[in-house]
Amino acid sequence: QTIQPVYNFNAGPSALPSAVLEKAQQELLNFRGTGMSVMELSHRSAAYEEVHNNAISRLKTLFSIPDNYEVLFLQGGASLQFSMIPMNFLQKGQKAAYVNTGVWAEKAFAEAKLFGDPYEAASSKESNHRFIPNLHDLKINQDDEYVHITSNNTIYGTQWKDFPNTGEVPLIADMSSDIMSRPVDVSKFALIYAGAQKNLGPSGVTVVIIRKDMIEKANPNLPTMLKYSTHSKNNSLFNTPPTFGIYMLGEVLGWIEEKGGLESLAKQNEEKAHLIYDAIDESNGFYIGHAKPESRSLMNITFRLADQDLEKKFLEEAKEAGFVGVNGYRTVGGCRASTYNSVPVEACMALRDFMIQFQKNN
Ligand code: PLP
Repeated sequence: QTIQPVYNFNAGPSALPSAVLEKAQQELLNFRGTGMSVMELSHRSAAYEEVHNNAISRLKTLFSIPDNYEVLFLQGGASLQFSMIPMNFLQKGQKAAYVNTGVWAEKAFAEAKLFGDPYEAASSKESNHRFIPNLHDLKINQDDEYVHITSNNTIYGTQWKDFPNTGEVPLIADMSSDIMSRPVDVSKFALIYAGAQKNLGPSGVTVVIIRKDMIEKANPNLPTMLKYSTHSKNNSLFNTPPTFGIYMLGEVLGWIEEKGGLESLAKQNEEKAHLIYDAIDESNGFYIGHAKPESRSLMNITFRLADQDLEKKFLEEAKEAGFVGVNGYRTVGGCRASTYNSVPVEACMALRDFMIQFQKNN
């Protein structure tokens, strides 16, 4: 059976580098001479421990993580971090500032309300989340327990270009949909978290980068699995970790190394996104971008067709032409192309050409 090649623009789980998938396939039945699959190794074995520690050290090096931070591999997705963060750092009567830039930010905010008294530091809701609020407009108080932001808004296609200086107040970021797509000054953040399934690997692994003083000051009266300290003390091996996902994540990081690291990846991500944004901007209003240009995401490109009836046809024809995942989020509609790290430039060129041709034909 011949398999049609596809251009994968899924929002998550999303494309993985084909070189990584091929390597995983080659190693699947006999992992580096062990005679077993990496999935079959004990998580206490030397062979697995090497995979695990290699993934952590690659992450630290590539993302230039300072020594006073730890990298944890947890489960439960970014969604469990929405709860774990307030559970560990926020109690009744304490305040935390949440910036509302979309659905995921709102979900994080809702969880914080269960534990303390969070408030909205700024919001883009009235514009249907077309922009990232101005850094000067954030209402942050020095007695806040932390400030929470979503660095890239997967559904609306907006992305923070600069991050606020929050002084002594810990800055926490959900980087699920743009982690390691560009260099970031990690020292600005007290905690960064991300589900792996967009830029780093398969679903099932959640990366948490946490400053050590945060681990120490967290609420000690929590269930064992929900304390950052449990995972930190045990090098994320307190219980059985998602070993296959961590192996894949380590291989994706190896691929990023081969690509020349985050600087070169960022440059390529910028080029890729601009291919599609240019098609929108040069369409004379045939395609309409959702995000304001200064807030545009380089990971999720959201747009509509001015003619709503044509939108359905566009999505149908895109699907037929082998473009996967170009439809917008289920509750928002429209079109969205996710151009994460692993999406090759050729796929973006093909989508741009398709968009231009569709406009000509219609
Ligand atoms: N945060 C952001 C920015 C996301 O894009 C998503 C998923 O798409 C989530 C959180 C939820 O992540 P998970 O499915 O890992 O819980």
